[in-house]
Amino acid sequence: MNQERDDLVATYLGLQGFAVVAVVHEHHPRRGRVKVVRIERRSGQHECSECGRRHASILFTEPEPIWLRDCSVGDLETYLEVQPVRVACCGGTRVERLPFAMPGFRMTRRFFERLAALCTRLPVSAVATMATLSWETVARIDMRAIELGLGDRTAALTDLRWIAVDEVSRTGGRQYFTIVTDLATGRVVWIGDGKGRRGLLPFLRALRAKGRRRLRGVVSDLGYLTIIVARLPHAVHILDRFHIVQWVNRALDELRRRLFSAAPRDALGSTLKVKKWLLLSARENLEHKHKLLLNDLMEQNLPLYRGYLLKEQLRAILRHPWKYFGVLRERLQEWILAVFDAVLPEFKKVADRLAKHLDSVIAGHQHDVPLGLAESRNSQIAALRFQARGYRDPEYFKLKILQRCGLPHNPWARIVL
Ligand SMILES: [Zn+2]
Repeated sequence: MNQERDDLVATYLGLQGFAVVAVVHEHHPRRGRVKVVRIERRSGQHECSECGRRHASILFTEPEPIWLRDCSVGDLETYLEVQPVRVACCGGTRVERLPFAMPGFRMTRRFFERLAALCTRLPVSAVATMATLSWETVARIDMRAIELGLGDRTAALTDLRWIAVDEVSRTGGRQYFTIVTDLATGRVVWIGDGKGRRGLLPFLRALRAKGRRRLRGVVSDLGYLTIIVARLPHAVHILDRFHIVQWVNRALDELRRRLFSAAPRDALGSTLKVKKWLLLSARENLEHKHKLLLNDLMEQNLPLYRGYLLKEQLRAILRHPWKYFGVLRERLQEWILAVFDAVLPEFKKVADRLAKHLDSVIAGHQHDVPLGLAESRNSQIAALRFQARGYRDPEYFKLKILQRCGLPHNPWARIVL
């Protein structure tokens, strides 16, 4: 009868194979009143923690019991207290494996998993407060959970065909990561430190000759072009539309600033100062009243109007689903000539670059690769950075990016609360 009752309690607590021998409240020097569930192994078999082999005989029982933090039962922090045994195995003495314990952490697996699940939705600091754990401990849990979810990723590198390479700011400032995305799945497959050659070289090495040979094309900005041409001579290079629109937006903003510093401090001057977003927004996304305001601004300033038209024209060319690439080439060349006619030095740089890399721009339309991916990923990463207020540990930030943009599914998404 007693044994039946003990089993019932153990089943209720999810500790099959163990018997609950006592539940006591204790005063912990740092954590205050806590609940301690003392358990003992029911069956005679003990698993080696290293190889998993089962042993009926034991060498000795550990002199001190261990405490494992568990999900709270009732309204107190709860700990499982267990005295593990040592077995003779793997050429020495090994401590037994406790099926509910999370290796490397003084907590149960289910407690670990719940914290890991919370970390996918909340900042580490919030989870740490909820669990009354340190920021460092929760961060370590989160990192381990992501590593477990990711598994071994180097094996998949040889299957890559089309990739996007992009730099993202690590801190919001001048420190960068190089992010490699598999365009077939949209998943981030590699994160390198730094940008340009330094950021990409370790990835190209990890690919090995076989992976490099199989790679058919790379979408990237110009910063990666030299190394791509040198190391992947047979791969198609595609200039991302997103980056070209960035160039032209930057040119328009430089023009705005030049005109502003020359403008009298009247209505037009102040409008030029504050309406940067108005100029740089995609026109189709503007509200009607903002379009009217933009029209006003344009009427007052011809060079700005010309610059704005050039930006919108280039965007329209790049967005059009071209079937005849000869026509696309013509349109781009016409745009380049229009820039020279407009005598806007800010745009001339863009036109020069486009003229030099025309094939890479057109390649983006010739091959069926999802452009615009960099844009959405950059905003995802910026949101992560904001959420974390800049991760102190770059490796941790990398794992967070991989978790958000690299996992096929979130393994911690369906944790029972
Ligand atoms: Zn063993």
